[in-house]
Amino acid sequence: MTTQATQDVLIVGAGLAGLALGRELARAGRRVTLLDKSRGVSGRSSTRRLAADRLELPLDHGARFFTARHPQTLAFVQEGLAAGWLREWTRSIPRWQGGTVVEEGGGHPRYAPPAGMNTLGRELGRGLKVELEAQVVRLSQVAGGWRAECGDGRSVEAAAAVLNLPAPQIVPLLEGAALDLSPFQAVAFDPCWAVGALLHADVAGADWPALRMQDHPALEWIAREHTKRSPTAPHTPALMLHARPDWTRQHLQDDKAQVAAALLEHARDVVGPLELRASFAHRWLYATPTVRYPHSHGWLPDSSLGWCGDWCTPDPHGPRVEAALLSGWALAEALTVRS
Ligand SMILES: Cc1cc2nc3c(=O)[nH]c(=O)nc-3n(C[C@H](O)[C@H](O)[C@H](O)COP(=O)(O)OP(=O)(O)OC[C@H]3O[C@@H](n4cnc5c(N)ncnc54)[C@H](O)[C@@H]3O)c2cc1C
Repeated sequence: MTTQATQDVLIVGAGLAGLALGRELARAGRRVTLLDKSRGVSGRSSTRRLAADRLELPLDHGARFFTARHPQTLAFVQEGLAAGWLREWTRSIPRWQGGTVVEEGGGHPRYAPPAGMNTLGRELGRGLKVELEAQVVRLSQVAGGWRAECGDGRSVEAAAAVLNLPAPQIVPLLEGAALDLSPFQAVAFDPCWAVGALLHADVAGADWPALRMQDHPALEWIAREHTKRSPTAPHTPALMLHARPDWTRQHLQDDKAQVAAALLEHARDVVGPLELRASFAHRWLYATPTVRYPHSHGWLPDSSLGWCGDWCTPDPHGPRVEAALLSGWALAEALTVRS
């Protein structure tokens, strides 16, 4: 077992909220370590590179794009636009209703990095100490703070701990600790099946970047994913599909190939024939918070334990990328102002 030197703050989960928090704490001079079970940072704002016939395209199988309303998010957007890793994707996403494409009136900017949504996490995490493939299985209070133990035997100790993972996944980590777990137990999430596909040819006659599906029995989102990518880079046409929560629940235990075939068949009914080069399916068990924690973050000063994430938001615009960022930044402000 490797026990590392004590840190000021350990953050479980390198999603956007944890990374936004970590970046601000590091800027304030704190020693921060993030632990994430995945092979890369960015959590649900994630991207998979799908390749076929020597062609490759990043597909955003989690967050599709993001919007910015708060000054701090707008400043982050400006940072990305100036550095070139971010682009305004579109201002208009029509909806599909009963077989008709209805244009969106009065649209607003939707941002998406040309290299994929996980660019957001990579940019926020620049210079931060992040341990990947580090699945935390237990979090316990020790003299002087907290110890996170990973499934592979690694452990990290710090004076304070912050949880940036979907609330239902927090509960088993804290079961041994003498803490009230009801704030986490009250939070609920919808699941989502996502299917990505590389195509031989673009959808015939389509001029939309994506469709928001209204009242479709299976699909809630169809994106012509290549429209997000750099217009100058060579790319292959691609679709990203997201299923409705109720359809996902009915098919939660289906295998990936079955789900990909079923959702692509639904997509054909909507957009016409599709000739596939390659496809994949990904199941998000915790995709969208439906019952949230009603504050931007949590912090227990007596236990030096905090939490943040998109499920912590009073924002009427809902749990999304901006809510995750604001949650991390709000907790950072609380921790740096306090001491
Ligand atoms: C299908 C889908 C579509 C979406 N579309 C949009 C959209 O269009 N626009 C928008 O703004 N938002 C969208 N979202 C929401 C957006 O992705 C999230 O709001 C945001 O990414 C949440 O960030 P977070 O930091 O709160 O949590 P997460 O991204 O969930 O980060 C949690 C991190 O914790 C890690 N983790 C979990 N358990 C452990 C453990 N035991 N040990 C170590 N690490 C662990 C995970 O690997 C993950 O990296 C979408 C989400 C999904 C799933």
